[in-house]
Amino acid sequence: MASFAFISFVGLRKSSPEKHHHHSLTTLPKCIAPSQAHYRRLNVVAAKTSPKITGRNLRVAVVGGGPAGGAAAETLAKGGIETFLIERKLDNAKPCGGAIPLCMVGEFELPLDIIDRRVTKMKMISPSNIAVDIGQTLKPHEYIGMVRREVLDAYLRDRAATSGATIINGLFVKMDKPQEKNAPYVLHYNAYNGKTGSTGERMSIEVDAIIGADGANSRVAKSIEAGDYEYGIAFQERVKIPDDKMQYYENVAELYVGNDVSPDFYGWVFPKCDHVAVGTGTVTHKPDIKKFQLATRLRTHDKILGGKIIRVEAHPIPEHPPSKESGGEGSPGRRCGGVCDEMLR
Ligand SMILES: Cc1cc2nc3c(=O)[nH]c(=O)nc-3n(C[C@H](O)[C@H](O)[C@H](O)COP(=O)(O)OP(=O)(O)OC[C@H]3O[C@@H](n4cnc5c(N)ncnc54)[C@H](O)[C@@H]3O)c2cc1C
Repeated sequence: MASFAFISFVGLRKSSPEKHHHHSLTTLPKCIAPSQAHYRRLNVVAAKTSPKITGRNLRVAVVGGGPAGGAAAETLAKGGIETFLIERKLDNAKPCGGAIPLCMVGEFELPLDIIDRRVTKMKMISPSNIAVDIGQTLKPHEYIGMVRREVLDAYLRDRAATSGATIINGLFVKMDKPQEKNAPYVLHYNAYNGKTGSTGERMSIEVDAIIGADGANSRVAKSIEAGDYEYGIAFQERVKIPDDKMQYYENVAELYVGNDVSPDFYGWVFPKCDHVAVGTGTVTHKPDIKKFQLATRLRTHDKILGGKIIRVEAHPIPEHPPSKESGGEGSPGRRCGGVCDEMLR
């Protein structure tokens, strides 16, 4: 599991040379708020002709606005499909490490300014705290991108909206399946109420298909009885550390291994724009996650000493796609495994 995760997140796979190289690797990037990110158009990839059903566009609802949902909605909208993207929490930040391989930058056409840091030095640190440099296989143009999920996810959703998708801030509750041929799915959701800051009015929309990208514990998957699947829990603290300590992490990411930090994953310290993210995860020992997090912090010793925790995040994250495919009734399918799944290939 650890090596599996490692390969997927630190991106040690074949990649094509980087085309755009705007910042030098030592440049300290400025912190970009999600809304300030620079968006540019994709050269896409979706069908040129719009699928029509009796004189109208096909309608698809994508439930979940993480990377899988944002990317799916953009592709659908670009293909001329009337697309609704439903996300319960638009400022949601997943505590996944946010390390992305170079291939993802190309495949998702990510602009470089949403990448906080382009790290070339990786250290794997043993249970007895022996550090081994593992970034040496990177070629001169290669790096591991460090993103903040609130920035990446918002960017992908906004790009879907620019392509024509309607973004709905709401909690998907349930769906009514079509009872006769050509009848629509009726999808029920609680719209977010901006005034009270809570879920508000019950709403429904009719669509021809539903894509489940609602992550771990997917309600879409349950609705279509797509089967159970495993999920991981991730815990992460964003820590603002003193400038002299931040200098060490400017171009370094650390992976801590050992049963103290996680029996089946690894602990990490990944540099973000002006702070570091310290986290860990587990699939097999979820109740112990806080203990693993404390151990990860302790393992960093004085490297983050004097730091201030500015944000704490914990979230279940889909680990594998459901084992059973769903024969056309909406598809949590492999995209439910999300970006990670994409990175594994
Ligand atoms: C410990 C750990 C560390 C990881 N580290 C990395 C890493 O460094 N790099 C990396 O690339 N990947 C990492 N991953 C994997 C990565 O987090 C996942 O692959 C990714 O989040 C999956 O994306 P997704 O869009 O499928 O799901 P999610 O990101 O979970 O998105 C699902 C979305 O659906 C929304 N939603 C859920 N239910 C509803 C509902 N009923 N109505 C409306 N909206 C709903 C949620 O709010 C959420 O925004 C890590 C995973 C773990 C467990």
